Amino acid sequence: MTRLLIVGPQGSGKGTQGAIIAAENGVPAVATGDIFRAHIKNDTELGKKVKAITAGGNLVPDEVTSELVRDRLSEEDAAGGFLLDGYPRNTVQVGHLDAFLSGRGESLDAVILLEVPREESLARISLRAEQEGREDDTPDAIAKRLDIYESETAPIIGLYSERGIVDRIDGVGTLDEITARIRLALAARGITA
Ligand code: AMP
Repeated sequence: MTRLLIVGPQGSGKGTQGAIIAAENGVPAVATGDIFRAHIKNDTELGKKVKAITAGGNLVPDEVTSELVRDRLSEEDAAGGFLLDGYPRNTVQVGHLDAFLSGRGESLDAVILLEVPREESLARISLRAEQEGREDDTPDAIAKRLDIYESETAPIIGLYSERGIVDRIDGVGTLDEITARIRLALAARGITA
């Protein structure tokens, strides 16, 4: 059973690293941003509801997001563990996740915090904007998302640090170097692929 959360600012590489670490540990990566983008692309009811919110770089309402995650974590492939990417994103969502997991007698094993300076995040997002053309990679939406990260998401690290489950990882380096750092930190907790 491996229950992980990966946290980092936009452009920290958490999506890429999260997918690698999840695959190595045989658990699904649950990335709320990806799930919302899929709904928007398929023009579902939820997609219609969140399109303008995500395009502006704002957060989807907590209850909507938490319900989506509860549903996803209730699927069979997440019974043996999971890696959350992009959720929880504020302290209210931490409360929702705690309530859900404790109801199942579960808790997070480790929180991987990818630390990347703001200038480096901005540079990486601009590169991605050119390559992928994401709707929320406009200068205004990027600035908004980084501000929300600093004001709403960074505080969740304090909550998880009190539980002794945060691993701070230097997110500057090559993809392989960073993956190796994460593996090492998880191994120190007895989490090995
Ligand atoms: P991401 O790919 O993680 O950067 O997420 C893209 C967008 O999806 C965010 O800017 C939000 O609009 C929305 N989103 C993703 N995760 C959450 C969350 N946990 N809470 C609220 N909104 C979210």
